[in-house]
Amino acid sequence: MVALKCAVLLFTILGVCNSASISIDSAKLECNLPQTVIDEIAGYANVTNTILDYFIRGPFKGETWKRISDFVDKFGSRISGSQNLEDSIDYVIAKAIEEELENIHTHNVEVPYWQRGDESVTLLEPRIKAMPMLGLGGSIGTKPEGITAQAVVVESFDELKSLSIDEISGKIVVYNQPFNSYGESSQYRLTGAIEAAKLGAVGSLISSVTNFSIATPHTGIVFYEDDIPKIPAAAITPEDADLLWRLNKRGQNIQINIKMDATSEQKISRNIIADLKGTDLRDSLVVVSGHIDSWDVGDGSMDDAGGSFISLLAPIVLKKLDLRPRRTIRTILFTGEEQGMIGAEAYELDNREENKNLSFVMESDFGTFAPLGLNYEGSSIGKCMLAEILKLFSSINSTEFGTGDAGPDISVWTSLGIPGAGLYNANGKYFWFHHTEGDTLNVLEPDVLDAAGGFWTAVAYIVANMENDIPRE
Ligand SMILES: [Zn+2]
Repeated sequence: MVALKCAVLLFTILGVCNSASISIDSAKLECNLPQTVIDEIAGYANVTNTILDYFIRGPFKGETWKRISDFVDKFGSRISGSQNLEDSIDYVIAKAIEEELENIHTHNVEVPYWQRGDESVTLLEPRIKAMPMLGLGGSIGTKPEGITAQAVVVESFDELKSLSIDEISGKIVVYNQPFNSYGESSQYRLTGAIEAAKLGAVGSLISSVTNFSIATPHTGIVFYEDDIPKIPAAAITPEDADLLWRLNKRGQNIQINIKMDATSEQKISRNIIADLKGTDLRDSLVVVSGHIDSWDVGDGSMDDAGGSFISLLAPIVLKKLDLRPRRTIRTILFTGEEQGMIGAEAYELDNREENKNLSFVMESDFGTFAPLGLNYEGSSIGKCMLAEILKLFSSINSTEFGTGDAGPDISVWTSLGIPGAGLYNANGKYFWFHHTEGDTLNVLEPDVLDAAGGFWTAVAYIVANMENDIPRE
């Protein structure tokens, strides 16, 4: 089951997945919606502008950034299983109570608590160089003196598999994989240790999964398989991975020492749930979500305090504006996303009877840069309805469909045919900061957050208030 889970996760976890992308170009989208539906959606122009104005020019201007800054400055990073994450969850619950949201509660989830401890990667031959590194989340540690071994550098799994066990056994495999897409490159982080260990390697290093680097290592989860030896796994910088690749090409003897004090135990964490109850269709749910946990580096402002806060603020702002939609808007801030969408999977499993009531699911976890529209997964009629809704956002240039998937956490529902959307945003720099010390508040901009929050809130309101549900597949 672990292998199967890994295979599924490869394409969905923690980032942009190309496999589920929508191929219909919105400009070429052929729609045949009843005029009544088109007219109904056009009728939301005024309320859309009211919500956007409130965020962008009105009393809430700058407030999204301010609330995120209060949060990340108080708690910093929030790795799953940590007391700090649980304290930050209590803080969000207190804010939701202060704002008089409804049905506020948490849902217990067992998560791993992985701690990195002291760690280092040192090039010993052909010259001494301390290499900036981050152990991969979930990695086992080493003995105190670390492991020292010869390194073999490959650029792909195919290249690794072309080598014999004799060439790999007892060595450290270094993956210098290219970055063509996150989905492709992150496979080396997720399963690189498994593939290297199958050939007898004693350690696994990857080039950090990013499309840009100024010598920054990026962490993220690594998986093991039960019947394959677990070996320590870490990320080095793309610059150092290139250096090792050049040395290897020249046939030079490369000796590396890896030291990691990593430990892991199981803990209880919590998903956060808060509602703005609907009126006549209150059993029907529109979910807005993000994940409250982060990695243990940076402060997780981008991944995913930004997404969490626009989803938390959607029902809060609607309440302030006295805009209570027909359906219930439910904010869910998932825990344990970075460890493999553990909170979302547990929520779906423990609340399965609720699936029939899910009208639409939204998640923001690919950045809260300038909003451009939606990444949509669902029926083509639903896409036509959303295309009409997006026309209402021409004033902020948020009218397009992106080609990414809707989101990793909500894939527990979109995979069942329940329609969902993620925030399509100008996130070209997302992977520059992703899972690094650089994921701090400096990545976020107040005006941009205002637009993203306004867009997110207005879309949630319209979908929750419309006469018809977005049809399922
Ligand atoms: Zn994330």
